[in-house]
Amino acid sequence: MYINPYQNALIGPEYGYKANFHTHAGTGKGTCGHHEIRDVLEAYKDAGYQVLTISNHDLFTDAEPYGQEYDITLINGYEYSKDPHMLCIGCDAVCTGNHQEAIDSCVEQGGFVILCHPNWIRKEYWPWKDIDNTSGFAGLEIYNHLIYRLEGSGLAVDTWDHILSNRRLAWGFGSDDFHSWQDLGRAWNTILSPSRSRSDIMASIMSGSFYVSTGLWLSEFEFDDNCLKVSACFKKAYIREYQYRFIGQNGQLLDVQTGEYGVYQLDGDEKYVRVEAIGENGAMLWTQPVYRNDYFKKP
Ligand SMILES: [Zn+2]
Ligand SMILES: [Zn+2]
Repeated sequence: MYINPYQNALIGPEYGYKANFHTHAGTGKGTCGHHEIRDVLEAYKDAGYQVLTISNHDLFTDAEPYGQEYDITLINGYEYSKDPHMLCIGCDAVCTGNHQEAIDSCVEQGGFVILCHPNWIRKEYWPWKDIDNTSGFAGLEIYNHLIYRLEGSGLAVDTWDHILSNRRLAWGFGSDDFHSWQDLGRAWNTILSPSRSRSDIMASIMSGSFYVSTGLWLSEFEFDDNCLKVSACFKKAYIREYQYRFIGQNGQLLDVQTGEYGVYQLDGDEKYVRVEAIGENGAMLWTQPVYRNDYFKKP
């Protein structure tokens, strides 16, 4: 039986909470987080975000008290910065142990862990064999925009399909990896959650009820009788034509369609199918996979 991670979600450009879990701020001149926390929160608020984590390198920043003032749901976390990096979100202390210990500690506190920029500097900055031997993470950054002004590739759907094809259900996340103003609003997660309370946001992340975007919104995601129908849109535009790419095991391109929506009829052999939508200007949207529940385990 297939599971649709959006089955309980309201879908449309008017729904969802815009979130970035990878933001460096408030750590002083000459550091990655050189902009003041207040200035950064103000800018994210202006850009339409409702959920944010200040995630500094191996440094716990208590940003949650700012939430009310800026009307943003702030979830504390940090970037575990022994190579390869990870975002530990929803925890209240930095773990100085190894990667597995840091994941376990974050999860024990009710948080979740995202593997960072898997192709920074080189392909497999996050080696696939290490990922295969790591457990408990919620997902990975399939898109980290900062990497495009550093080295390597900010895209990591190759790593995502590797993990999924190993029967491990990891969610795809998008991040600004905010260091300076030019990084803001480049890639985000739209969380299809009943409210932006911390508990609803956390539950929606755990169940995969969110998608990654660099400019598009999901206007339709229907899954009935193994038939998947998806459409994307710009927030307010008359544009009707988008490209839809249906992707399955090992990153295999199952179908490409252009039009008002994309439709793919699963034959039951697919272990998972995920969708990428592309707008006229190259803006993208990545959905989480529809997946066979007898095939997958959590990482
Ligand atoms: Zn990093
Ligand atoms: Zn970072």
